[in-house]
Amino acid sequence: MRLSRYFLPVLKETPADAQIVSHRLMLRAGMIKQASAGIYSWLPLGYRVLRRIERIVHEEQQRAGHIPMLMPTLQSADLWRESGRYDAYGPEMLRFKDRQDREMLFGPTNEELITDIVRSNIGSYKQLPLTLYQIQWKFRDEMRPRFGVMRGREFLMKDGYNFDLTREDALHAYNRHLVTYLRTYERMGLQAIPMRADSGPIGGDDTHEFLVLAETGESEVFYDSAVTDISLGQRDIDYDDKAQCAAVMEEFTTLYARTDETHDETLFAEVPEDRRRSARGIEVGQIFYFGTKYSDALGATVQGPDGKSVPIHMGSHGIGVSRLLGAIIEASHDDRGIIWPEGVTPFHVGIVNLRQGDQSTDSACDGIYRQLESEGLTALYDDRDERAGAKFATMDLIGLPWRITVGPRGLSNGKVELTSRRTGTSEEMSPEAAIARLR
Ligand code: ATP
Ligand code: MG
Ligand code: MG
Ligand code: MG
Repeated sequence: MRLSRYFLPVLKETPADAQIVSHRLMLRAGMIKQASAGIYSWLPLGYRVLRRIERIVHEEQQRAGHIPMLMPTLQSADLWRESGRYDAYGPEMLRFKDRQDREMLFGPTNEELITDIVRSNIGSYKQLPLTLYQIQWKFRDEMRPRFGVMRGREFLMKDGYNFDLTREDALHAYNRHLVTYLRTYERMGLQAIPMRADSGPIGGDDTHEFLVLAETGESEVFYDSAVTDISLGQRDIDYDDKAQCAAVMEEFTTLYARTDETHDETLFAEVPEDRRRSARGIEVGQIFYFGTKYSDALGATVQGPDGKSVPIHMGSHGIGVSRLLGAIIEASHDDRGIIWPEGVTPFHVGIVNLRQGDQSTDSACDGIYRQLESEGLTALYDDRDERAGAKFATMDLIGLPWRITVGPRGLSNGKVELTSRRTGTSEEMSPEAAIARLR
Protein backbone atom coordinates (compact mmCIF):
# COMPACT_ATOMS: atom_id res chain seq x y z
CA MET A 1 0.00 0.00 0.00
CA ARG A 2 1.23 3.47 -0.89
CA LEU A 3 0.57 5.85 1.95
CA SER A 4 -0.26 8.67 -0.47
CA ARG A 5 -3.25 6.64 -1.66
CA TYR A 6 -4.21 5.11 1.68
CA PHE A 7 -6.61 6.39 4.32
CA LEU A 8 -4.63 6.79 7.53
CA PRO A 9 -6.08 9.71 9.50
CA VAL A 10 -3.32 10.01 12.11
CA LEU A 11 -4.04 12.47 14.93
CA LYS A 12 -1.33 14.88 16.06
CA GLU A 13 -2.95 15.71 19.38
CA THR A 14 -3.50 13.17 22.13
CA PRO A 15 -7.28 12.72 22.45
CA ALA A 16 -8.26 14.15 25.81
CA ASP A 17 -11.11 11.78 26.60
CA ALA A 18 -9.15 8.54 26.12
CA GLN A 19 -8.01 7.28 29.53
CA ILE A 20 -5.78 4.37 28.69
CA VAL A 21 -2.83 4.05 26.37
CA SER A 22 -4.32 1.51 23.95
CA HIS A 23 -7.38 3.67 23.39
CA ARG A 24 -5.22 6.76 22.85
CA LEU A 25 -2.92 4.97 20.44
CA MET A 26 -5.76 3.41 18.44
CA LEU A 27 -7.31 6.85 17.98
CA ARG A 28 -4.00 8.55 17.21
CA ALA A 29 -2.98 5.85 14.73
CA GLY A 30 -6.24 6.32 12.84
CA MET A 31 -7.47 2.78 13.56
CA ILE A 32 -10.93 3.50 14.93
CA LYS A 33 -13.43 6.31 15.23
CA GLN A 34 -16.19 6.38 17.77
CA ALA A 35 -19.63 6.40 16.15
CA SER A 36 -21.53 6.64 19.45
CA ALA A 37 -20.84 5.53 23.01
CA GLY A 38 -19.15 2.11 22.88
CA ILE A 39 -19.72 1.77 19.13
CA TYR A 40 -16.83 2.18 16.70
CA SER A 41 -16.07 2.38 13.02
CA TRP A 42 -13.03 0.36 12.08
CA LEU A 43 -10.86 2.51 9.85
CA PRO A 44 -8.61 0.73 7.32
CA LEU A 45 -5.59 0.23 9.60
CA GLY A 46 -7.67 -1.02 12.54
CA TYR A 47 -9.67 -3.23 10.21
CA ARG A 48 -6.50 -4.88 8.90
CA VAL A 49 -5.44 -5.84 12.44
CA LEU A 50 -8.95 -7.04 13.28
CA ARG A 51 -8.89 -9.30 10.21
CA ARG A 52 -5.49 -10.70 11.15
CA ILE A 53 -6.68 -11.50 14.65
CA GLU A 54 -9.78 -13.17 13.22
CA ARG A 55 -7.62 -15.23 10.92
CA ILE A 56 -5.52 -16.59 13.76
CA VAL A 57 -8.68 -17.44 15.67
CA HIS A 58 -10.11 -19.27 12.64
CA GLU A 59 -6.90 -21.19 12.01
CA GLU A 60 -6.56 -22.39 15.58
CA GLN A 61 -10.22 -23.37 15.86
CA GLN A 62 -10.18 -25.30 12.62
CA ARG A 63 -6.93 -26.99 13.55
CA ALA A 64 -8.87 -28.56 16.43
CA GLY A 65 -11.72 -29.65 14.15
CA HIS A 66 -14.14 -26.90 15.15
CA ILE A 67 -16.50 -25.86 12.36
CA PRO A 68 -17.07 -22.21 11.35
CA MET A 69 -20.54 -20.87 10.62
CA LEU A 70 -22.45 -17.62 11.01
CA MET A 71 -25.59 -16.76 12.94
CA PRO A 72 -27.52 -13.50 12.73
CA THR A 73 -26.91 -10.59 15.09
CA LEU A 74 -30.65 -10.06 15.56
CA GLN A 75 -32.69 -12.69 17.35
CA SER A 76 -36.29 -13.26 18.31
CA ALA A 77 -37.13 -13.09 22.01
CA ASP A 78 -39.00 -16.41 21.81
CA LEU A 79 -36.01 -18.71 22.24
CA TRP A 80 -34.77 -16.66 25.17
CA ARG A 81 -38.17 -17.06 26.83
CA GLU A 82 -37.82 -20.81 26.37
CA SER A 83 -34.45 -20.88 28.10
CA GLY A 84 -35.66 -18.51 30.81
CA ARG A 85 -32.93 -15.98 30.08
CA TYR A 86 -35.10 -13.28 28.49
CA ASP A 87 -35.96 -11.83 31.88
CA ALA A 88 -32.81 -13.03 33.65
CA TYR A 89 -30.38 -11.27 31.30
CA GLY A 90 -31.32 -7.78 32.44
CA PRO A 91 -30.63 -4.34 30.96
CA GLU A 92 -27.41 -5.36 29.22
CA MET A 93 -29.60 -6.89 26.51
CA LEU A 94 -30.73 -4.48 23.82
CA ARG A 95 -34.41 -5.18 23.10
CA PHE A 96 -36.69 -3.72 20.46
CA LYS A 97 -39.77 -4.47 18.40
CA ASP A 98 -40.10 -4.90 14.66
CA ARG A 99 -43.01 -3.41 12.66
CA GLN A 100 -45.16 -6.48 13.38
CA ASP A 101 -44.71 -5.78 17.08
CA ARG A 102 -42.55 -8.88 17.52
CA GLU A 103 -40.04 -8.70 20.34
CA MET A 104 -36.47 -8.85 19.09
CA LEU A 105 -33.02 -8.45 20.55
CA PHE A 106 -29.44 -7.88 19.44
CA GLY A 107 -27.62 -11.05 20.52
CA PRO A 108 -25.29 -10.62 23.52
CA THR A 109 -24.34 -14.34 23.15
CA ASN A 110 -25.82 -17.27 21.23
CA GLU A 111 -26.43 -20.37 23.35
CA GLU A 112 -30.17 -20.38 22.57
CA LEU A 113 -29.83 -19.89 18.83
CA ILE A 114 -27.21 -22.58 18.38
CA THR A 115 -29.06 -25.05 20.61
CA ASP A 116 -32.15 -24.52 18.47
CA ILE A 117 -30.15 -25.27 15.32
CA VAL A 118 -28.73 -28.43 16.83
CA ARG A 119 -32.01 -29.71 18.28
CA SER A 120 -33.66 -29.32 14.87
CA ASN A 121 -30.97 -31.20 13.02
CA ILE A 122 -29.39 -33.74 15.32
CA GLY A 123 -31.17 -36.80 16.63
CA SER A 124 -28.57 -39.48 17.16
CA TYR A 125 -25.44 -39.79 19.26
CA LYS A 126 -23.72 -40.83 16.02
CA GLN A 127 -23.80 -37.18 14.90
CA LEU A 128 -21.77 -36.18 17.95
CA PRO A 129 -19.30 -34.87 18.98
CA LEU A 130 -19.76 -31.54 17.25
CA THR A 131 -18.24 -28.11 17.84
CA LEU A 132 -19.59 -25.13 15.89
CA TYR A 133 -18.32 -21.60 16.17
CA GLN A 134 -18.67 -18.17 14.64
CA ILE A 135 -17.01 -14.77 14.75
CA GLN A 136 -19.84 -12.28 14.91
CA TRP A 137 -20.77 -8.90 16.37
CA LYS A 138 -22.44 -8.86 19.75
CA PHE A 139 -24.22 -6.09 21.54
CA ARG A 140 -24.28 -5.58 25.29
CA ASP A 141 -25.60 -2.34 26.64
CA GLU A 142 -22.73 -1.97 29.09
CA MET A 143 -23.32 0.38 31.98
CA ARG A 144 -19.95 2.03 31.43
CA PRO A 145 -18.62 1.57 27.92
CA ARG A 146 -15.03 2.76 28.10
CA PHE A 147 -11.41 2.23 27.17
CA GLY A 148 -12.27 2.19 23.46
CA VAL A 149 -12.77 -1.27 22.01
CA MET A 150 -11.87 -2.90 25.33
CA ARG A 151 -15.33 -2.37 26.71
CA GLY A 152 -17.51 -1.54 23.78
CA ARG A 153 -21.23 -1.98 23.55
CA GLU A 154 -20.96 -3.44 20.05
CA PHE A 155 -17.97 -5.79 19.90
CA LEU A 156 -16.66 -8.70 17.89
CA MET A 157 -16.58 -12.07 19.62
CA LYS A 158 -15.66 -15.56 18.63
CA ASP A 159 -18.25 -17.79 20.24
CA GLY A 160 -18.06 -21.57 19.99
CA TYR A 161 -20.34 -24.30 21.26
CA ASN A 162 -19.59 -27.97 21.81
CA PHE A 163 -22.22 -30.73 21.72
CA ASP A 164 -21.32 -34.08 23.24
CA LEU A 165 -23.02 -37.28 24.32
CA THR A 166 -21.41 -37.55 27.75
CA ARG A 167 -19.99 -35.33 30.42
CA GLU A 168 -16.61 -36.93 29.83
CA ASP A 169 -16.67 -36.00 26.13
CA ALA A 170 -17.80 -32.47 26.94
CA LEU A 171 -14.94 -32.09 29.41
CA HIS A 172 -12.56 -33.15 26.68
CA ALA A 173 -14.07 -30.39 24.51
CA TYR A 174 -13.46 -28.00 27.40
CA ASN A 175 -9.81 -29.04 27.67
CA ARG A 176 -9.41 -28.90 23.90
CA HIS A 177 -10.70 -25.35 23.87
CA LEU A 178 -8.27 -24.38 26.57
CA VAL A 179 -5.40 -25.63 24.41
CA THR A 180 -6.66 -23.84 21.28
CA TYR A 181 -6.98 -20.61 23.25
CA LEU A 182 -3.47 -20.83 24.66
CA ARG A 183 -2.11 -21.29 21.16
CA THR A 184 -4.27 -18.47 19.77
CA TYR A 185 -3.06 -15.91 22.30
CA GLU A 186 0.56 -16.99 22.03
CA ARG A 187 0.44 -16.46 18.27
CA MET A 188 -0.65 -12.90 18.99
CA GLY A 189 2.39 -12.35 21.18
CA LEU A 190 0.28 -12.41 24.35
CA GLN A 191 0.54 -14.29 27.58
CA ALA A 192 -3.04 -15.00 28.64
CA ILE A 193 -3.28 -16.93 31.89
CA PRO A 194 -6.23 -19.27 32.46
CA MET A 195 -7.79 -18.46 35.81
CA ARG A 196 -10.62 -20.08 37.70
CA ALA A 197 -13.57 -17.76 37.38
CA ASP A 198 -17.25 -17.19 37.94
CA SER A 199 -19.73 -18.23 35.26
CA GLY A 200 -22.06 -15.21 35.40
CA PRO A 201 -25.21 -15.28 33.24
CA ILE A 202 -23.94 -18.13 31.03
CA GLY A 203 -24.19 -20.54 33.97
CA GLY A 204 -22.39 -23.79 34.82
CA ASP A 205 -19.71 -24.91 37.24
CA ASP A 206 -16.54 -25.28 35.26
CA THR A 207 -15.17 -22.10 33.82
CA HIS A 208 -11.85 -20.43 33.23
CA GLU A 209 -11.17 -16.91 32.09
CA PHE A 210 -8.01 -16.01 30.14
CA LEU A 211 -6.34 -12.92 31.52
CA VAL A 212 -3.62 -10.71 30.15
CA LEU A 213 -1.88 -8.99 33.03
CA ALA A 214 -2.05 -5.20 32.69
CA GLU A 215 -2.36 -2.33 35.12
CA THR A 216 -5.30 -0.99 33.16
CA GLY A 217 -7.18 -4.31 33.33
CA GLU A 218 -10.65 -4.23 34.84
CA SER A 219 -10.37 -7.58 36.65
CA GLU A 220 -8.62 -8.11 39.94
CA VAL A 221 -6.62 -11.33 39.94
CA PHE A 222 -4.57 -13.41 42.37
CA TYR A 223 -1.97 -15.91 41.24
CA ASP A 224 1.15 -17.88 41.92
CA SER A 225 3.90 -16.14 39.92
CA ALA A 226 5.08 -19.57 38.70
CA VAL A 227 2.11 -19.61 36.26
CA THR A 228 3.81 -16.92 34.24
CA ASP A 229 6.71 -19.29 33.50
CA ILE A 230 4.57 -21.79 31.57
CA SER A 231 3.93 -21.55 27.85
CA LEU A 232 2.58 -23.89 25.22
CA GLY A 233 5.26 -23.08 22.66
CA GLN A 234 5.63 -25.19 19.55
CA ARG A 235 4.65 -28.53 21.03
CA ASP A 236 2.68 -30.93 18.86
CA ILE A 237 -0.91 -31.31 19.94
CA ASP A 238 -3.26 -34.05 18.85
CA TYR A 239 -6.64 -32.52 19.59
CA ASP A 240 -8.35 -35.91 19.58
CA ASP A 241 -6.00 -37.16 22.29
CA LYS A 242 -8.01 -36.80 25.49
CA ALA A 243 -5.10 -37.57 27.77
CA GLN A 244 -2.84 -35.02 26.11
CA CYS A 245 -5.42 -32.21 26.29
CA ALA A 246 -6.19 -33.11 29.90
CA ALA A 247 -2.49 -32.97 30.73
CA VAL A 248 -2.19 -29.46 29.26
CA MET A 249 -5.26 -28.39 31.22
CA GLU A 250 -3.71 -29.72 34.40
CA GLU A 251 -0.35 -28.14 33.70
CA PHE A 252 -1.91 -24.71 33.17
CA THR A 253 -4.58 -24.74 35.86
CA THR A 254 -3.06 -26.45 38.88
CA LEU A 255 -1.07 -23.53 40.24
CA TYR A 256 -3.17 -20.93 42.02
CA ALA A 257 -4.68 -18.41 39.60
CA ARG A 258 -8.12 -16.92 40.26
CA THR A 259 -10.18 -13.86 39.59
CA ASP A 260 -11.58 -11.96 42.56
CA GLU A 261 -15.00 -13.66 42.33
CA THR A 262 -13.51 -17.06 43.12
CA HIS A 263 -10.48 -15.93 45.12
CA ASP A 264 -9.93 -17.94 48.30
CA GLU A 265 -7.62 -16.43 50.93
CA THR A 266 -7.02 -19.75 52.68
CA LEU A 267 -5.88 -21.52 49.52
CA PHE A 268 -3.87 -18.50 48.43
CA ALA A 269 -2.00 -18.59 51.75
CA GLU A 270 -0.61 -21.99 50.75
CA VAL A 271 1.29 -20.39 47.85
CA PRO A 272 4.88 -19.60 48.91
CA GLU A 273 4.84 -15.98 50.01
CA ASP A 274 7.44 -14.72 47.55
CA ARG A 275 5.32 -16.09 44.68
CA ARG A 276 1.96 -14.61 45.76
CA ARG A 277 0.81 -11.91 43.39
CA SER A 278 -2.25 -9.73 43.22
CA ALA A 279 -2.59 -7.72 40.06
CA ARG A 280 -4.97 -6.52 37.41
CA GLY A 281 -5.85 -8.27 34.18
CA ILE A 282 -7.79 -7.95 30.93
CA GLU A 283 -10.25 -10.78 30.25
CA VAL A 284 -9.63 -11.83 26.63
CA GLY A 285 -11.62 -15.05 26.68
CA GLN A 286 -13.60 -17.51 28.72
CA ILE A 287 -14.52 -21.19 28.44
CA PHE A 288 -17.55 -22.83 30.06
CA TYR A 289 -18.82 -26.33 30.64
CA PHE A 290 -22.47 -26.12 31.67
CA GLY A 291 -23.68 -29.66 31.01
CA THR A 292 -27.34 -29.89 30.08
CA LYS A 293 -28.51 -26.43 31.20
CA TYR A 294 -29.61 -25.30 27.73
CA SER A 295 -30.34 -28.71 26.24
CA ASP A 296 -32.74 -29.45 29.13
CA ALA A 297 -34.46 -26.08 28.79
CA LEU A 298 -34.75 -26.28 25.02
CA GLY A 299 -35.20 -30.02 24.65
CA ALA A 300 -32.01 -30.75 22.73
CA THR A 301 -31.70 -34.51 22.99
CA VAL A 302 -30.19 -37.40 21.07
CA GLN A 303 -30.82 -41.09 21.04
CA GLY A 304 -27.97 -42.81 22.83
CA PRO A 305 -26.45 -46.19 21.82
CA ASP A 306 -29.11 -47.93 23.94
CA GLY A 307 -31.94 -46.17 22.09
CA LYS A 308 -32.81 -43.94 25.05
CA SER A 309 -33.20 -40.21 24.59
CA VAL A 310 -30.65 -38.15 26.55
CA PRO A 311 -29.94 -34.40 26.76
CA ILE A 312 -26.79 -33.22 24.99
CA HIS A 313 -23.83 -32.05 27.09
CA MET A 314 -22.70 -28.59 26.12
CA GLY A 315 -20.17 -25.89 26.72
CA SER A 316 -19.54 -22.47 25.24
CA HIS A 317 -16.31 -20.67 24.62
CA GLY A 318 -15.68 -17.01 23.83
CA ILE A 319 -12.78 -14.89 22.65
CA GLY A 320 -12.97 -11.09 22.73
CA VAL A 321 -11.73 -10.53 19.18
CA SER A 322 -12.10 -6.73 19.13
CA ARG A 323 -10.98 -6.38 22.77
CA LEU A 324 -7.77 -8.18 21.82
CA LEU A 325 -6.55 -5.18 19.83
CA GLY A 326 -6.62 -3.12 23.00
CA ALA A 327 -5.04 -5.90 25.06
CA ILE A 328 -2.20 -6.39 22.59
CA ILE A 329 -1.43 -2.67 22.54
CA GLU A 330 -1.56 -2.44 26.34
CA ALA A 331 1.03 -5.24 26.41
CA SER A 332 3.19 -3.93 23.57
CA HIS A 333 3.88 -0.22 23.13
CA ASP A 334 6.35 2.48 24.13
CA ASP A 335 6.14 6.25 24.41
CA ARG A 336 6.35 6.66 20.64
CA GLY A 337 3.51 4.32 19.77
CA ILE A 338 2.37 0.79 19.14
CA ILE A 339 4.77 -2.15 18.68
CA TRP A 340 2.85 -4.84 16.80
CA PRO A 341 3.82 -8.46 17.33
CA GLU A 342 4.57 -10.02 13.93
CA GLY A 343 1.52 -12.27 14.16
CA VAL A 344 -1.02 -9.44 14.02
CA THR A 345 0.75 -6.48 12.45
CA PRO A 346 -1.29 -4.62 9.80
CA PHE A 347 1.74 -4.55 7.45
CA HIS A 348 4.99 -6.46 7.82
CA VAL A 349 7.21 -3.53 6.98
CA GLY A 350 7.17 0.20 6.36
CA ILE A 351 9.27 1.82 3.63
CA VAL A 352 10.39 5.38 4.22
CA ASN A 353 11.62 7.37 1.26
CA LEU A 354 13.80 10.14 2.66
CA ARG A 355 13.78 12.17 -0.56
CA GLN A 356 10.55 11.76 -2.40
CA GLY A 357 10.88 12.92 -5.99
CA ASP A 358 14.55 11.98 -6.22
CA GLN A 359 14.90 9.60 -9.12
CA SER A 360 17.27 7.18 -7.38
CA THR A 361 15.38 6.90 -4.05
CA ASP A 362 12.01 6.71 -5.82
CA SER A 363 13.07 3.87 -8.05
CA ALA A 364 14.83 2.00 -5.21
CA CYS A 365 11.69 2.28 -3.06
CA ASP A 366 9.47 1.16 -5.92
CA GLY A 367 11.68 -1.86 -6.51
CA ILE A 368 11.74 -2.88 -2.82
CA TYR A 369 8.00 -2.35 -2.54
CA ARG A 370 7.21 -4.46 -5.59
CA GLN A 371 9.58 -7.22 -4.54
CA LEU A 372 8.10 -7.42 -1.02
CA GLU A 373 4.54 -7.49 -2.29
CA SER A 374 5.35 -10.16 -4.86
CA GLU A 375 6.64 -12.32 -2.02
CA GLY A 376 3.48 -11.83 0.00
CA LEU A 377 5.14 -9.53 2.54
CA THR A 378 2.80 -6.59 2.98
CA ALA A 379 4.46 -3.19 2.95
CA LEU A 380 3.28 0.32 3.68
CA TYR A 381 5.34 2.65 1.53
CA ASP A 382 5.47 6.22 2.80
CA ASP A 383 5.73 7.99 -0.54
CA ARG A 384 4.36 11.30 0.70
CA ASP A 385 6.23 14.53 0.20
CA GLU A 386 6.91 14.97 3.93
CA ARG A 387 9.87 15.65 6.20
CA ALA A 388 11.84 12.59 7.36
CA GLY A 389 10.93 13.34 11.00
CA ALA A 390 7.20 13.25 10.25
CA LYS A 391 7.56 10.00 8.33
CA PHE A 392 9.50 8.36 11.17
CA ALA A 393 6.97 9.56 13.74
CA THR A 394 4.10 8.06 11.76
CA MET A 395 5.91 4.73 11.36
CA ASP A 396 6.75 4.62 15.07
CA LEU A 397 3.16 5.45 16.00
CA ILE A 398 1.56 2.75 13.85
CA GLY A 399 4.15 0.27 15.06
CA LEU A 400 5.09 -1.92 12.09
CA PRO A 401 7.78 -4.36 13.25
CA TRP A 402 10.26 -3.36 10.52
CA ARG A 403 11.18 -0.21 8.65
CA ILE A 404 13.33 0.11 5.56
CA THR A 405 14.72 3.62 5.17
CA VAL A 406 15.94 4.70 1.76
CA GLY A 407 18.00 7.88 1.42
CA PRO A 408 20.28 9.29 -1.27
CA ARG A 409 23.44 9.05 0.83
CA GLY A 410 23.12 5.35 1.67
CA LEU A 411 21.92 4.54 -1.79
CA SER A 412 25.08 5.98 -3.36
CA ASN A 413 26.84 3.06 -1.60
CA GLY A 414 24.11 0.61 -2.54
CA LYS A 415 22.74 0.57 1.04
CA VAL A 416 19.41 1.04 2.77
CA GLU A 417 18.71 0.90 6.49
CA LEU A 418 16.68 -1.84 8.21
CA THR A 419 15.29 -0.88 11.61
CA SER A 420 13.52 -3.03 14.18
CA ARG A 421 10.64 -1.20 15.87
CA ARG A 422 10.96 -3.31 19.00
CA THR A 423 14.68 -2.98 19.66
CA GLY A 424 15.25 0.29 17.80
CA THR A 425 18.44 -1.09 16.26
CA SER A 426 19.31 -0.19 12.68
CA GLU A 427 21.61 -1.89 10.23
CA GLU A 428 22.83 -0.80 6.82
CA MET A 429 22.66 -3.36 4.06
CA SER A 430 21.77 -3.83 0.43
CA PRO A 431 18.06 -3.76 -0.48
CA GLU A 432 18.27 -7.47 -1.35
CA ALA A 433 19.73 -8.31 2.06
CA ALA A 434 17.01 -6.28 3.80
CA ILE A 435 14.29 -8.13 1.93
CA ALA A 436 15.98 -11.45 2.70
CA ARG A 437 15.88 -10.62 6.42
CA LEU A 438 12.11 -10.14 6.28
CA ARG A 439 11.36 -13.47 4.63
P1 ATP B 1 -16.48 -8.76 31.10
O1 ATP B 1 -16.26 -9.47 32.40
O2 ATP B 1 -15.28 -8.01 30.63
O3 ATP B 1 -17.74 -7.96 31.09
P2 ATP B 1 -17.82 -11.06 30.14
O4 ATP B 1 -17.33 -12.05 31.15
O5 ATP B 1 -19.13 -10.43 30.39
O6 ATP B 1 -16.71 -9.91 29.99
P3 ATP B 1 -18.09 -13.20 28.19
O7 ATP B 1 -19.54 -13.41 28.22
O8 ATP B 1 -17.20 -14.15 28.89
O9 ATP B 1 -17.77 -11.68 28.68
O10 ATP B 1 -17.66 -13.01 26.64
C1 ATP B 1 -16.52 -13.58 26.03
C2 ATP B 1 -15.44 -12.54 25.76
O11 ATP B 1 -15.95 -11.41 25.05
C3 ATP B 1 -14.85 -11.94 27.03
O12 ATP B 1 -13.89 -12.79 27.58
C4 ATP B 1 -14.28 -10.63 26.53
O13 ATP B 1 -12.97 -10.83 26.03
C5 ATP B 1 -15.21 -10.25 25.40
N1 ATP B 1 -16.11 -9.16 25.83
C6 ATP B 1 -17.13 -9.24 26.72
N2 ATP B 1 -17.74 -8.06 26.87
C7 ATP B 1 -17.09 -7.19 26.05
C8 ATP B 1 -17.25 -5.80 25.75
N3 ATP B 1 -18.21 -5.10 26.33
N4 ATP B 1 -16.41 -5.24 24.85
C9 ATP B 1 -15.44 -5.97 24.26
N5 ATP B 1 -15.24 -7.28 24.49
C10 ATP B 1 -16.04 -7.90 25.38
MG1 MG C 1 -19.70 -8.54 30.94
MG1 MG D 1 -16.14 -11.49 32.89
MG1 MG E 1 -16.43 -13.77 30.75
